[in-house]
Amino acid sequence: MPMTTQQKPKFIAKRLEQIPPYLFAEIDKKRLAAIEKGVDIINLGIGDPDQPTPKHIVEAMHKAIDDPATHNYPPYAGTPEFRKAAVEWFSKRFNLPAFNANTECVGTIGMKEAIHNIFLATVDAGDYALIPSPGYPVYKTSTLLCGGTPYSMPLKEENGFLIDLDSIPEEVAQKAKLLILNYPNNPTGAFATKEFFEKVIAFGKKYNILICHDNAYSENGFDPNNKPLSIFEIDGAKDIAIEMFSLSKGYNMTGWRIGFAVGNPDGIKGLSNVKTNIDSGVFKAIQRAAVVALSGDQSHLDFLRNLYQERARVAEAGLKSLGWEIKNPSKGTLYVWAKIPARYKSSLDFASEMLDKAGIVVPPGIGYGEYGEGYFRIALSVDKSRIELAIQRMKEHGLTYN
Ligand SMILES: *Cc1c(COP(=O)(O)O)cnc(C)c1O
Repeated sequence: MPMTTQQKPKFIAKRLEQIPPYLFAEIDKKRLAAIEKGVDIINLGIGDPDQPTPKHIVEAMHKAIDDPATHNYPPYAGTPEFRKAAVEWFSKRFNLPAFNANTECVGTIGMKEAIHNIFLATVDAGDYALIPSPGYPVYKTSTLLCGGTPYSMPLKEENGFLIDLDSIPEEVAQKAKLLILNYPNNPTGAFATKEFFEKVIAFGKKYNILICHDNAYSENGFDPNNKPLSIFEIDGAKDIAIEMFSLSKGYNMTGWRIGFAVGNPDGIKGLSNVKTNIDSGVFKAIQRAAVVALSGDQSHLDFLRNLYQERARVAEAGLKSLGWEIKNPSKGTLYVWAKIPARYKSSLDFASEMLDKAGIVVPPGIGYGEYGEGYFRIALSVDKSRIELAIQRMKEHGLTYN
């Protein structure tokens, strides 16, 4: 039961009221009820890799956990070995000069916490944070929890889902502290270009706004000859930007909770300062396993690339057979982003009908922000046979585009 304002206990902080209502609550309720009744639900909602963590990483963990030296508190910023492996992986992967593992890198408990904490490190009450819409929901809630004002930067299809910096009002830019962006993009699957990143860096410098690039999908591009970029491929980016990485999506390690941030020393220092006062780092055994992940065999990346690409093509071909127009096939991430049929009033209506009629869970675009309305997302973290079955069910139940 959702709590009404009157029922809210006196001890719950006002800042929690600012958090928008959980949009998937209704769909979740229906999904659980359907499962209870024995319906075979096809869940295309979860952006969580279905493949196990590569074996050599798991084996490194087994070994590490047997060593008592891993059992006590880790250093706040990450072990020196982990930070060294992180900056080496980073400069090799993007063909960039080495970053300083002490001043330009910090280990994080996955990326979600790092995102929240970079807001704490930069956004005071009354400040603006510039966030993409649609976008990863944490950006908005973290802004609100900091007492800041989120300014939604629309990602429009006609702009290739890139941010239109020229449309940000001058007074908003003046009062902004942080601009967060994410390419390859969740949920749209869009990729950044160098020209676009150049504009973002120039914008950050002009207004003295920290640029934070969420590169959660850096290893999930489909084309091995056209890999996702780092924002540091732009000259001078380190003057104003940090970039966040995670082992979650590329190394099938979502449950392990490990990532890192690199870049501008002031930004890294701010993030580290918040973290030192809030958490006590990642279990050292996990950091040892992550060193093996970053510096060892990378062959699973090709496997994953092919796997997700095949699923994306199956989903897109299926949608096409039901009347969808697929103008830009997905180039990476774990997602396909598609328009809802025009006859539906909202993405929530469409998602509800997908569940009620066909037993398929898809997140409505509105769940990613106001500019996600009119779309829905398909996650590629299920076997292609399940995607095929979903398409078949959509056809049977008249869930076609026209
Ligand atoms: C999954 C995801 C993250 C968070 O990943 P962690 O598991 O917390 O490392 C961050 N940003 C985006 C856009 C994501 O999709």
